[in-house]
Amino acid sequence: MSLFTGPMHYHLNGHKDLTMDKEVLKSIDPDYVYIPLVNGNAPCTPCVQVGDEVKVGTKIAERNDRFFLPIFSPVSGTVTAVEKFMTSSMTQADHLKIQNDHKHTAVRAFAAFDYEKATWEELLEFVKNAGMLGLGGAGFPTYVKYLKPENVDLFAVNAVECEPYLTADYKNIEENLSLLKTGTLALFKLSKAKKGCIVIKEDKKKQIEDLKKTFEGTPIEIRTVPNIYPMGWERTLVYELTGKRYNMLPIEAGMILNNASTAIALGNAIDNGMPITHKYVTVSGDALKDPKNVYVPVGTKAHEIIEAVGGYKEGVDNVLLIAGGPMMGRTIPNDAFVIAPQNNGLTVLINKEEDEVACLRCGRCTTTCPSGLQPVRIAAAGKSKDEATLNKLHVMDCIECGLCTYICPSKIAVTENVRRAKNFIRLQGGKK
Ligand code: SF4
Ligand code: SF4
Repeated sequence: MSLFTGPMHYHLNGHKDLTMDKEVLKSIDPDYVYIPLVNGNAPCTPCVQVGDEVKVGTKIAERNDRFFLPIFSPVSGTVTAVEKFMTSSMTQADHLKIQNDHKHTAVRAFAAFDYEKATWEELLEFVKNAGMLGLGGAGFPTYVKYLKPENVDLFAVNAVECEPYLTADYKNIEENLSLLKTGTLALFKLSKAKKGCIVIKEDKKKQIEDLKKTFEGTPIEIRTVPNIYPMGWERTLVYELTGKRYNMLPIEAGMILNNASTAIALGNAIDNGMPITHKYVTVSGDALKDPKNVYVPVGTKAHEIIEAVGGYKEGVDNVLLIAGGPMMGRTIPNDAFVIAPQNNGLTVLINKEEDEVACLRCGRCTTTCPSGLQPVRIAAAGKSKDEATLNKLHVMDCIECGLCTYICPSKIAVTENVRRAKNFIRLQGGKK
């Protein structure tokens, strides 16, 4: 089956009203931050040692395999240890532990940079050395997308944020329109695209007005899309905007996209000389007393953030903690992991522990899947470790959108089963 054969779009209850109009909490200043020494599956090498003093903006580590990614300190203080524990992607990794001196002494990480006067090559080098990465969840080094921008018709900043509960991007946009403008125009230049746009859901009236005013007189158009899930997913968005599908990368359909928070981070690097040190994170869900957005140093522990927003509701003792939103996020067994640059949400739900019953063969997971897959057959092939059938069923095309679990009347964790099947294929060395 090909993409987009099923209904594929759902209007989900977004629960965004829980946090959308509340002030962002910015006072969280942990005694220690823990910087994951990993980007994707690639380890990063520290450039500091235990005992070294660092400032906000000091380079502390870098990824240096086939891709380059520098990592910078979000606090000032002292490096005290390297500790191994689980990341929000559920893998074990070393973390650089930094004791925060709470003085917020900063060093300007990058010299003043004029992206308008800079050559394309200088701009690419700046984006690379500034450590820009996909802040919408992927965490992939940004410059890599722009290495060969040939025949790009459309550049887009993705401000759709379709995942239920999450409003971190909207808050970031609201508070940083000027940085968004700088970052978007710089990325547009880098993309060499014929046209550029910012894409946002049609119901976000206030943000749409703000964006229109901010980008007036620039080549960037403000485009709106329907409030349906998973509209913010790259493949859905590319199809919505161009009517084209692609195999591996959006550039095959003539598009380059970046998340709005990534564009803002680049604007901050250009205008203020600062790398990614802090993140807007939505902390929401029905298990929390007072859901809200927070602006925290990268490397803050999840449990400190949950405590800072007021903790769990009275009487709630069984919660489901999800790194990200409830559809695409990952359920995490405890709240000891830290916020990585690409984390944009902590969703904390009351764990209702509904009993799973046998599959009804209703086919709803198949007709719902936006990737045109057959999740129930994939799950079965995954359980019997049938590599050939999994490849035939295109298991690796699953985007882990969560819709098959959401829709399943038997309460089967279909997405989790498909995810396991994907991991099995990865362990066999990928799709053959
Ligand atoms: S999680 Fe994967 S298999 Fe399930 S509906 Fe989404 S894309 Fe399809
Ligand atoms: S939606 Fe659930 S019950 Fe229906 S076919 Fe898929 S796994 Fe089975």
